[in-house]
Amino acid sequence: MTTLAASSEADDILSASRSGRGRIVAGVPADVEVIVVGGGPGGSATAALLAEMGHEVLILDKARFPRHKACSEYINPGGVAVLERLGAMAEIDALGPHRMAAMRVFAPGGRSFLADYDGVEAGRTALGLSRYRLDHLLLRRAAAAGATVVEGAHVRGLLIEGGVVRGVEVTIDGTRQTIRARLVVGADGRHSVVTRALGIDASPSVLEQTGLVAHYRGVTGLDRFGEMHVGRGGYGGLAPLEDGLTNVAFVSPARRVAARDGGTLAYFEAGIASLPRMAGRLAGATMEGTVRGIGPMAHRATRVAGDGYLLVGDAASFLDPFTGEGIYAALRAAELAAPVASAALRRGEVTVRSLVPYGAARRRVFTAKGAVCWIVQGFIHQPPLMDYVTRRLDERAALGRQLASVLGNIGPAAPALSPLFLARLLRP
Ligand SMILES: Cc1cc2nc3c(=O)[nH]c(=O)nc-3n(C[C@H](O)[C@H](O)[C@H](O)COP(=O)(O)OP(=O)(O)OC[C@H]3O[C@@H](n4cnc5c(N)ncnc54)[C@H](O)[C@@H]3O)c2cc1C
Repeated sequence: MTTLAASSEADDILSASRSGRGRIVAGVPADVEVIVVGGGPGGSATAALLAEMGHEVLILDKARFPRHKACSEYINPGGVAVLERLGAMAEIDALGPHRMAAMRVFAPGGRSFLADYDGVEAGRTALGLSRYRLDHLLLRRAAAAGATVVEGAHVRGLLIEGGVVRGVEVTIDGTRQTIRARLVVGADGRHSVVTRALGIDASPSVLEQTGLVAHYRGVTGLDRFGEMHVGRGGYGGLAPLEDGLTNVAFVSPARRVAARDGGTLAYFEAGIASLPRMAGRLAGATMEGTVRGIGPMAHRATRVAGDGYLLVGDAASFLDPFTGEGIYAALRAAELAAPVASAALRRGEVTVRSLVPYGAARRRVFTAKGAVCWIVQGFIHQPPLMDYVTRRLDERAALGRQLASVLGNIGPAAPALSPLFLARLLRP
């Protein structure tokens, strides 16, 4: 049995297929070994690795690159390490990213704690680089590794035969077509069509936050640090980027953004004004471009792999940008997925069973950090607790270094979940 499944557009796709409107767009293959849906960091890195392993890979992205992406554009030290392993750092350095040795986190009461990566391991830094540049570079690297890239290719649903994902339904230049593949990689981000088509979307309803970001020129006082400012109605972030730009972010409950009186810009500016220290950094700075946003941001799929498919990046899981690991997680997932996918493809058996090691590797690498992220969310949503914890971290250098290591994905996260660590952090 052949079904074409998509969430809201399923009927449309089925009727298009039955009426024979679907046809092959010239130059795009109708049958490939691997389709990667989405050319963000997760998709491009997975595609590059699989292409280097000798597989035939087609990346489909609805956008045309370079394109902006709503993101605070901060790559944590763990993400930088993956970019080094991928061999991308020489080209990234040529783009002039801003190196950050630490992140200063301000609590609502004004106390701050320095997540000092350089203090954890000499020379470790985070990077500030616009997604306009980063994503385009990673996509070009995937193409250079041998992947075929089709931009402006909007995947509408999946081709599913007997419960097995066999390809995608895509619109390219206004024309629908079906492309078959032995493996479909869902790397299409927070609003993943792949997870919705499979019915495995399980986004949490408890943390519905909207993130708004913009670029500013003329922000002062940051130099080698980025900053996070936690307030009572949301939090803000400052990440210096290339070319003297700074990424300015404000994150607040999605329901408040939806119920705002004025426009998005006015809401964003009021949010920044509610964080006086952050607003001080912006005095005299000017915004370049527009405010971009996404919300609710949290997303989770109930499975990360199945017969004929696997998920990487936000399509698999994303919680909140406060702990700054979304890009790291997308790149790291590519490293975990590619060898498992390659082995399955070579055996000619791309099944839920053959992809089990990918899920196991994800649990090993991501589960403890995920728990730490939820604990951090608990702190930032309780201002008195955030004030208290920030003071403890500032006073106890060893605890601060341990947390910086975990937040920056420099060392393992499990120690931050130990009763001893939590007791030291919370003990009066
Ligand atoms: C406000 C905000 C701030 C953030 N700040 C940070 C930060 O500072 N540091 C950090 O590490 N992470 C941050 N994140 C998270 C980070 O942006 C994501 O984790 C990261 O982009 C995930 O990469 P990805 O490749 O999975 O998906 P994405 O980067 O979202 O890429 C998905 C790609 O898929 C394409 N696509 C989507 N749907 C389709 C379709 N149907 N057909 C074809 N193509 C499709 C899109 O065009 C896009 O190019 C932030 C997120 C938000 C919302």
